[in-house]
Amino acid sequence: MAASPAAPPAARVAIVGGGLGALLAHSALRFLGLDAGDVLVFAEHADPVTTYRAHAWGVGQTVVQTDPLGHFLPADWPTPRVLNALARGGSGGTVSVADMVAQARAVARRSGYAGSVVPARVGEVVRARDAHGAYFGLYDENGALMGLARHVLVAVGHGPQALPEVLSAARTHPLLRDRVVHAYEPKRYAAGGRYIVVGGGLAAVNEWVNCLDAGAECIAVQRTAAGQEDLTAPRCLFEALGIDAYQGVSAPDRLRVRQRVLRSATAASTGWHRRISEAIAAGRFREVVGEITRVAPGGEGVVAACDLRGGGSTGDLHVTGITSATGFDPDPAHVPLLARLIARYAPPRVGPRLALAPNCGVPGVDMPDSRLCVTGFHAVVAVPHADTLAGLKYVARRFAEDVMRAEGTPRRGPLGRVRAQAACVRAAVDELRRTPAA
Ligand SMILES: Cc1cc2nc3c(=O)[nH]c(=O)nc-3n(C[C@H](O)[C@H](O)[C@H](O)COP(=O)(O)OP(=O)(O)OC[C@H]3O[C@@H](n4cnc5c(N)ncnc54)[C@H](O)[C@@H]3O)c2cc1C
Repeated sequence: MAASPAAPPAARVAIVGGGLGALLAHSALRFLGLDAGDVLVFAEHADPVTTYRAHAWGVGQTVVQTDPLGHFLPADWPTPRVLNALARGGSGGTVSVADMVAQARAVARRSGYAGSVVPARVGEVVRARDAHGAYFGLYDENGALMGLARHVLVAVGHGPQALPEVLSAARTHPLLRDRVVHAYEPKRYAAGGRYIVVGGGLAAVNEWVNCLDAGAECIAVQRTAAGQEDLTAPRCLFEALGIDAYQGVSAPDRLRVRQRVLRSATAASTGWHRRISEAIAAGRFREVVGEITRVAPGGEGVVAACDLRGGGSTGDLHVTGITSATGFDPDPAHVPLLARLIARYAPPRVGPRLALAPNCGVPGVDMPDSRLCVTGFHAVVAVPHADTLAGLKYVARRFAEDVMRAEGTPRRGPLGRVRAQAACVRAAVDELRRTPAA
């Protein structure tokens, strides 16, 4: 790979996407010894917390679901709770979204993340080869070459938000657009209002509580009565032995295991349980097990109806609004960059998802000396918790180790790593001291 002064930027590694996964990969590479100039981060936002904060703000999330390994420091310890304790004394308490943002920004500053950022949206990643070996060209949406790199990590986050068809259709109606919202959109519940929340995962439970806390009534519509997703629950699956066992079965079986484990986990904290139980007793919370089938403008704003799982229908439900906590679209073909990758290289898929190799490589394009990997939401076939902080970190570290091996670059020595970690801890503690405790 040769670059002239007029050519687009070239580096050993390019990370596509400027969110938390990108930050974790950047800091893992820096920790092992690459310079900030060896890594380009093609990002829509220079601040890596921008998209995460928008999502958390949308669902009204204030407390982070922490896995002890789900944090931004390059080494495993200290955990977010210990960092909080170091910064503010006491036992560390709960870890808030603001705490995680403070920690992320401190690590980004220490590792020179901003210096690696190329402010751009990548449209396509294309395999190329010259006398120096294999590499990738990164192109914008118009096909203009933006950069070159030997290794690429695609960290573009979630796809579009998934909405049941009946709600998607309702949002095209001018009287319903502002009343039928996705959980990750900014929204306000009115005191005295009545809202339907569709979905049974963590985001749905969060919305039930937001709705009740605002003094509104909540009708929770979910397909099954039992269980809510929890990002932290299936811990055994999220550790080395669990990940190995997961990768030991076929890709379709992996998705089945993941679905079963997530479904059987419970999300609600004691505080949430208490608020929901009180609301049930006060007649402010009801559960409907079934599917929402009809949505139209109504006297109170919206009139909806659900088919019940056990048969029959709810009849007309007059509500102020509907929140759909139905997650993200799992089909990578609905993400332009991944759609082009699929069109060009036809990598294997399981259902709609990419059947990535255990090391998150894209089969058919990825090579040991020129890696093309995917992390995050679109990598859960390879790593069960790839869409959590702990999983993003696992993928980041593995990718960084592979890159160092491929580049033949000596890893930073133990003393250097301890110094780098200590500098990040100090920066995070300073930042946390400036952040009000939750
Ligand atoms: C509401 C919510 C709360 C969550 N809370 C937790 C939690 O408490 N604990 C936990 O472990 N996990 C949590 N997660 C899951 C996960 O850790 C976060 O979603 C995390 O932000 C994912 O990081 P990411 O880098 O994959 O995606 P993101 O942080 O979303 O970043 C992706 C970035 O890529 C950019 N991008 C996309 N396409 C391109 C392109 N073509 N070119 C350039 N840039 C592009 C986007 O602009 C975006 O900034 C939560 C998720 C959500 C939605």
